Amino acid sequence: MLAPTTPGRPQPDSLWRALAADAPLSPGAPLARDLAVEVAVIGAGYSGLAAAYALQKRGVECVVLDANPVGWGASGRNGGVVSSKFRLSFPTIHKLHGLDTAKRMHRLAHEGVRVVESFVDEFRIDRARFEHTGSLRCAHTERALDAICAEADWVRTTLNDTSMTVQSRAEVERETGSKGFVGGVLSADAGTILPLEYVRGLARGMTARGVPIYESTPVLKMHRAAGDAHVTLVTPGGTVRAKQVIVATNAYSDLTSATSPYQRELVPFRSAMIATECLPADLDARLMVERRSYTETRRMMKWFRKVDGRMLFGGRDAFGKEGQMTGFDALQRAMVSLFPDLADVRIEYRWSGYVGMTFNSLPHVGRSDDATTFCLGYNGAGVAMASLLGQHAAALALGETPELSLLGAPGLRPVPFHSLRAPGVRLVAAWYQILDAIGA
Ligand SMILES: Cc1cc2nc3c(=O)[nH]c(=O)nc-3n(C[C@H](O)[C@H](O)[C@H](O)COP(=O)(O)OP(=O)(O)OC[C@H]3O[C@@H](n4cnc5c(N)ncnc54)[C@H](O)[C@@H]3O)c2cc1C
Repeated sequence: MLAPTTPGRPQPDSLWRALAADAPLSPGAPLARDLAVEVAVIGAGYSGLAAAYALQKRGVECVVLDANPVGWGASGRNGGVVSSKFRLSFPTIHKLHGLDTAKRMHRLAHEGVRVVESFVDEFRIDRARFEHTGSLRCAHTERALDAICAEADWVRTTLNDTSMTVQSRAEVERETGSKGFVGGVLSADAGTILPLEYVRGLARGMTARGVPIYESTPVLKMHRAAGDAHVTLVTPGGTVRAKQVIVATNAYSDLTSATSPYQRELVPFRSAMIATECLPADLDARLMVERRSYTETRRMMKWFRKVDGRMLFGGRDAFGKEGQMTGFDALQRAMVSLFPDLADVRIEYRWSGYVGMTFNSLPHVGRSDDATTFCLGYNGAGVAMASLLGQHAAALALGETPELSLLGAPGLRPVPFHSLRAPGVRLVAAWYQILDAIGA
């Protein structure tokens, strides 16, 4: 956990940081006085900034506090895949919760992509290079292909959504340049973005509208005296008294004890990424010619895309810790086994971060008491969803009733046996790797 005086840590080294280097964001000053506001938002990632957007739009005075620079968490490190899905498939949601719920969840998933589009437009975040490219899910076995084709078919016939189309083995090979897949399903309502530019663009937009964002400002304590309608947030440089608090700290909630109870709602999972040097022209012309984002169907899923002629390759790594160098070699081996031509291509960037997985595989938005609202647990698909749910968290904090369907949480529901989560995650991941290896 952070010591009370720990200064904000710098943005981790990554391709995103290198691309943003020519337009550094002027570092926000830490909070250095006492404040009173209507709503205090903790966390300056997509969730927190989307919450601030919704508050500012309603004329509610708010402030955003982050222990680190804007986008230091997952929002500045992710793969930049903007997707319209949850980890739980829509047919599974239908089976478990009925058709009405599946329809509502489908609507929410696509709304997330609309929100990203509208933020990029409204705040003119051209530097984030959002492109509505679609996303291709590539099947590693015939069995996996049958399953994703059945899902596409169900979505088309039951939800009238024609955005998912099946691709043959030859089509996937032509498009990706890899012989490693037997076919795939293209989801047209998806895209790619530069994640750090996106979160910084949101922050610039909020600052321009007069919302103060204090970086290097960890919230160390949150307390409310009996009978006091306000919550007091204690930071190293001053206190913030607020009528409502929105906790938007997701998989980094354990930075301080003030927010660590929210970490118990999650199983944090390390996710790692590598980016190659610029590919030689012939390879660049052959690999991922449609420049979409790509995922595969293995349980320990890998994903890839191209940025400025570089291959980006990512995957979950349950065995390493953030900042460690473990996992990157395995990622490179997985990349080369799908793209043998990349065997001699140099890796120039390696980085990682934590994704917040939940027990029910869905994000959670709710109130932990009458003055505190939280949104977290995007299960590795938060670019679009956090941009939407941060706004819904703000609405909840103001007493509104946004449509949340299965995402609405009745309160904090800590993961059972939370202290055993790390060995548990490793055990499950090891089992998944065995199943993937034998093609089960
Ligand atoms: C490597 C990686 C790849 C990913 N790829 C994708 C992808 O391609 N597509 C996709 O949709 N999603 C992806 N994700 C997930 C996505 O990045 C997250 O779901 C999303 O960024 C969550 O945003 P957030 O604002 O909720 O949290 P974060 O961006 O993590 O922000 C939380 C913030 O809270 C701050 N904080 C924590 N505690 C305190 C405290 N006590 N006081 C003050 N501040 C505090 C932290 O400093 C941090 O800045 C990926 C994640 C990772 C790590």
